[in-house]
Amino acid sequence: MKDVPQVLDMCEGQLKLLASAPIPTRYGMFEMHVFRWNAFDSDESLGLSNEHVALVMGDIRGRQSVPVRVHSECLTSEVFGSLKCDCRDQLDRAQAEIARRGFGAVLYLRQEGRGIGLANKIRAYALQAMGADTVEANELLHLPVDARQYDVASAMLLELGVDSIELLTNNPDKVDKLRALGVHVERRIPVLVAANPFSANYLDVKRRRMQHEIPQNVVEAPPASSPEPVRGNLHIVSAQHAIR
Ligand SMILES: [Zn+2]
Repeated sequence: MKDVPQVLDMCEGQLKLLASAPIPTRYGMFEMHVFRWNAFDSDESLGLSNEHVALVMGDIRGRQSVPVRVHSECLTSEVFGSLKCDCRDQLDRAQAEIARRGFGAVLYLRQEGRGIGLANKIRAYALQAMGADTVEANELLHLPVDARQYDVASAMLLELGVDSIELLTNNPDKVDKLRALGVHVERRIPVLVAANPFSANYLDVKRRRMQHEIPQNVVEAPPASSPEPVRGNLHIVSAQHAIR
């Protein structure tokens, strides 16, 4: 970690560890740490939580080249399986890569919709349904295209005692921003997720207009039709049985 004294000054009093517990996941056992981050410039009207998560596998304190995913919350894909973006897949792949190596961390930041909040994100989706791309939609709403901040990620890494990281991302700007906050990023590890018919346009905009390092062949997908429902095993309780 570079410029530690400076970062320490900046973080003093802002980051507080609230709770920790082991969480068994489909990728193995992680330790989940919940932090509260009192940012000076947080805008509560956006509905963003100030509780952030570090999901840690293995002993990362004092280690170098720790694989880290700095991931921003995406309720639509992660909870509801929305196909409009690749967030959930990227999170899955990051956890799988960390499990493969046996150590690492996901820093899960509560900045929904690239920091504009859930309601604004869905307003932007409504404009996208009328033909705007992801950048144009935010511009129409007079919102920043990317309002994410990474100071809490830097503070969490400091708290976790990580020496240096390998950042799982396609976004070189995220590498630059973390380095500017004093995080020693040794290298970037791409997290490539093939496009589906609903995310192809979004991934293409990320590639062309947001300088994400995504190969052209990854963003190409067949034209959209209705999504295929994934059917679970539904057990229907018979009405007759319920009445008696
Ligand atoms: Zn998303």
